[in-house]
Amino acid sequence: DHRDRILNPRRRTAAQPSCASGASGLDAQDLRRALQDRLVVMHYQPKVSLQTGTVHGFEALARWPHPDLGMVPPGVFIPLAEREGLIRELTLALIASCFEESAYWRRSSAMHADPKMAINLSPLLLGDHGLVDEIGSLVQQHGLQSGQIILEITEGSLAPNMATALATLARLRLKGFGLSIDDYGTGFSSMQQLAQCPFTELKIDRSFVCGAHERPNLRVILKSAIDMARQLELSTVGEGIESMEDWETLRAMGCAIGQGYLIAKPMPGAEVPGWLQAWQTGANSSLKQAALS
Ligand code: C2E
Ligand code: MG
Ligand code: MG
Ligand code: MG
Repeated sequence: DHRDRILNPRRRTAAQPSCASGASGLDAQDLRRALQDRLVVMHYQPKVSLQTGTVHGFEALARWPHPDLGMVPPGVFIPLAEREGLIRELTLALIASCFEESAYWRRSSAMHADPKMAINLSPLLLGDHGLVDEIGSLVQQHGLQSGQIILEITEGSLAPNMATALATLARLRLKGFGLSIDDYGTGFSSMQQLAQCPFTELKIDRSFVCGAHERPNLRVILKSAIDMARQLELSTVGEGIESMEDWETLRAMGCAIGQGYLIAKPMPGAEVPGWLQAWQTGANSSLKQAALS
């Protein structure tokens, strides 16, 4: 039915028109209005140390709570924003709201350490020369440091404009931002990109993480990715940790950081201080104990 189609973008047909309303039923006008009314928001998913359970930071993930359609996932509206030339405006608005919220947590008592904030960047924006300065001034406006921010770029998406993308990434890195290769293992020119780009973090795609303990082939790939990252002096993150076995498999292989439903699902910003409090004071200690025993 209608709702199901919207929430399952993979079922959309190739014949979808690019400027009129697509099979999702959502069009550029809907998105423009949502942007104007600041309806698209960030949710936040924790990243924790697999060795100690300490909170390393959060990844900001965009959500569009729609009055008729429920929670529209980013897999639907990010491609729409990219097609319709709205991705720059959407990204800067989301970054601003994310910085506002995280500055607020920092002042709240639950926040002991200094968590990193990870933000996903559309590869289309890597061709945009003004973007680096705009993100830089947002960081300043909110009293943050660029070293607290990690920008995640999906592996394999850089290829079309490699030279421009490289220049933008280099400028971001010079400014002190962390740079993460997202969904590592799903792209094509991975080795080339790894050698050329100034990345600081390798984020292994959840298809290699989830259920790895019972799939020897996945374990081999996982282990070699983690070893390679260590030798390149990249921080390693495993995404999609859904079970204790996933956590333990990654930890035993030396992966530093983990993220996944086992630890927490993405949550609204207002829930973050409470979650932190609970995690740090041990309300989730059965999970941490089991993981670290
Ligand atoms: P991603 O950056 O790889 O984000 C991880 C995705 O995996 C998120 O889906 C998250 O909710 C989901 N996830 C986390 N832990 C688990 C788990 O244990 N099991 C399973 N099955 N899934 C898990 P989400 O939020 O639907 O985001 C999908 C993608 O949309 C993201 O993939 C990212 O590439 C993109 N995206 C999200 N927010 C933004 C944004 O603000 N800007 C841009 N350009 N892209 C975004
Ligand atoms: Mg990501
Ligand atoms: Mg990812
Ligand atoms: Mg992913």
